Amino acid sequence: MKSSDFYNFIIVGAGTAGLTAAIIAARKGYSVVVLEKGAIAGPKPRGESMAHYSLLDEILGKDYLQSIAEVKPSHRVYHSPGDIKPAGNIDMKVPYYFFEWRTLIDHMVDIANTLGVKFLFNSEVLKPIEENDICTGVEYRNLKGKNQTVFGNVVLACDGYSSTIGTFYNVDYSKINCPIVKFLGKNANINIEKVSSPQLYFIPNGILDYAPNFPPSVAYLFPIGGKKVEAGLMLRMTQAFKMKTVKIPNEEEIMDVWGNLKSRYPGFNEFFEGIKTEYEASTVMPNAGLVKNFILGNGGAILIGDSAGFIDANGSSGLYFGMKMAQVWVNLISESLIDNEFDWSEENRKYLSKQFKNSKIYKNIKSSYKLIGLFEWMIFKKLRTGKRINRFWKLIMWLLQVAS
Ligand SMILES: Cc1cc2nc3c(=O)[nH]c(=O)nc-3n(C[C@H](O)[C@H](O)[C@H](O)COP(=O)(O)OP(=O)(O)OC[C@H]3O[C@@H](n4cnc5c(N)ncnc54)[C@H](O)[C@@H]3O)c2cc1C
Repeated sequence: MKSSDFYNFIIVGAGTAGLTAAIIAARKGYSVVVLEKGAIAGPKPRGESMAHYSLLDEILGKDYLQSIAEVKPSHRVYHSPGDIKPAGNIDMKVPYYFFEWRTLIDHMVDIANTLGVKFLFNSEVLKPIEENDICTGVEYRNLKGKNQTVFGNVVLACDGYSSTIGTFYNVDYSKINCPIVKFLGKNANINIEKVSSPQLYFIPNGILDYAPNFPPSVAYLFPIGGKKVEAGLMLRMTQAFKMKTVKIPNEEEIMDVWGNLKSRYPGFNEFFEGIKTEYEASTVMPNAGLVKNFILGNGGAILIGDSAGFIDANGSSGLYFGMKMAQVWVNLISESLIDNEFDWSEENRKYLSKQFKNSKIYKNIKSSYKLIGLFEWMIFKKLRTGKRINRFWKLIMWLLQVAS
């Protein structure tokens, strides 16, 4: 007999991956608990743009994403180093929307609540609990600061870019994560009629006189709607580790460069005149690597979303990759979850891993990882200087269009 603090699915983290897993599992009739260390789901804003795939209609309701989007861009605009060459427009093949983080997350929580998902907020998972080397639950600190436990058939580690569960099983996130600055502002100097597309600025190593050893980066600005913008700076660490001219900056140095970009990077700075900052923080996202094993240890726990690594840097994939992974894993698990028992034998683990690695989403992530790796190697390592990137700018834009 299983006790009342036993669930079919224990989900660690109420971001988009965890909420998707919770909704799908609850719709299948399973008992689900979601543990979130923050006081609310998705406590810190992350991605606010997404391509519209059919999964989103399934999870959120038909055309929900479209209904909350104020801006529906048809292309991305890439700016050359120093904004010297004419900007290149890259068409989006799938409809693409900007929306507000809180609107999306609150909607997902509402759906999960109506399905009977149990939420434990202010509950930070401290570590997995193992029995016979299989993860059977988690220990967490509750709102009152007391350590508690919860048990289940499967733990889905949807706890983001430096997952506690993943770290426990020796995933080295320092090889996976890249720093990124997230900025939200209103009253931006933007004419939404003219600028309704994501703007991306290549910043190779050596181009900034105030930070000559700064790693290659991409600054971005997304018009969310009206005069509201999301903007930021993504460091491209994949190549940086191998570049002798580069110094890996600390958070203070990153924020200092970010301040300079806002006030004086050609083209980019114009948007920030008179802007009102609503949110600004340095964080990280997994752009540099992908985990090898999604099923951890001898079974019981599975990595999903940012905790599993690579998302691509175009500002269009992290949310979808995590949500789709969640769907594939919940479907796979439900095949072998019979009478509240799950078979974590080596044979079944191998079968599940193979099935996941044969899935379209895994293949997508892998090929996007290789393609972007190759592109960044060419731009930031081989061409490297602003001068050379500008010289080959037309070719670079053509390659981007072919690859997108
Ligand atoms: C600045 C920025 C901009 C981005 N822009 C885009 C974009 O435009 N489009 C796009 O598709 N993607 C974008 N991404 C990526 C996208 O936001 C992420 O890939 C996505 O949010 C990952 O979802 P997740 O559920 O895996 O993780 P998260 O959203 O990080 O959720 C993890 C959750 O786990 C909780 N948690 C962590 N540790 C614990 C613990 N020990 N116990 C309990 N709870 C815990 C956290 O509080 C959090 O709520 C962006 C990311 C960043 C940082």
